[in-house]
Amino acid sequence: MFAKWLSKNGINDFRPQFAILLGLLGILILSPFIIVHLVSENYILATGIFLLVVSFIYTSRTINRDNRRFKIISWVIVPVMLPVLLVSLYSLGIKASFWLYPSVIVLYLVLPRLYALTTNVILVILTSFIAYNTLDFELTLRLIASLTVVNVFIAAFIFVLEEQQDYLKKIAITDQLTGLRNRTSLMHKLDDLVCQANRCRTPLSFISLDLDLFKKINDTHGHAIGDEVLKTLARTMLSRIRKTDLAFRMGGEEFLIVLFDTDLEGAFNLAEVLRHTIEAEPAIKTTASFGISGYRYDEKVAIALKRADDNLYKAKRTGRNKVVR
Ligand code: GH3
Ligand code: MG
Ligand code: MG
Repeated sequence: MFAKWLSKNGINDFRPQFAILLGLLGILILSPFIIVHLVSENYILATGIFLLVVSFIYTSRTINRDNRRFKIISWVIVPVMLPVLLVSLYSLGIKASFWLYPSVIVLYLVLPRLYALTTNVILVILTSFIAYNTLDFELTLRLIASLTVVNVFIAAFIFVLEEQQDYLKKIAITDQLTGLRNRTSLMHKLDDLVCQANRCRTPLSFISLDLDLFKKINDTHGHAIGDEVLKTLARTMLSRIRKTDLAFRMGGEEFLIVLFDTDLEGAFNLAEVLRHTIEAEPAIKTTASFGISGYRYDEKVAIALKRADDNLYKAKRTGRNKVVR
């Protein structure tokens, strides 16, 4: 259950969950030290740890409510955490050094990686300076060496984890055969696309495309050749659309193109160009049918997509190899 909660964001950033965990642990584990330092009349440290707990709780609560703000909010802990660590090292000596190790890990798990790396380099430099002036030379060397090792391994771990997350994210939204975006990617993107069109009142159009009698191509030439036809079609689409437009493989031999800043007329012209290009493809004789629709501001995007689909089926019903709008 704990693992499920920690990975609540799926393959998105894991950091907001760790920031929330930090808030909880801050209250449970650090709070007693406020009392300990009050009793021993070390008011500076007691205040520092109090502020640290407050910053952890604030970060944790804010991120729990709206984890999109986490990149800015998570920074709040740094200007409190570094002074507390350094003051405790200065006033308590080597005893306080135990806190440096979990702090290094926490910084990597909570801050964006470049911020974490910078903060940790600063922490190691300042720690070296204080240790050099307050501890004996051998202890200073051991402290810095062990801190550096922890830093290198945690940084390496986080970097690998992020690379893997990026890779997983990419394959989760990519169609493996054609390299186009897949249906999942469309579901993620739709809201943003429509928001932008509604806000800026720029035209947005959809082209729904389905290869004609594709089953026959598979039956006649084999599945491998069928796959090649799909890949060629994907390349043709990508070469004809603008960089800002998006092409999706919706499944099988069905595709969707989203055209930005393009009205129905523009979508119709592009669909005609694609239709001719597919028909003229010399390798395998094939054709495609198209249904297009223009987004009407403030309507549900599913309705605009359905219009394109309905038009595609009309194209199929009325003889194929045509564009219907
Ligand atoms: P229509 O003109 O009515 O669309 O006829 P169709 O034969 O294209 O449509 P149907 O839905 O009957 O068949 C689609 C075919 O697409 C069936 C399936 O074998 C083929 N197909 C789906 N996905 C793939 C794929 O990844 N590779 C290959 N080679 N074929 C696929
Ligand atoms: Mg078909
Ligand atoms: Mg189909």
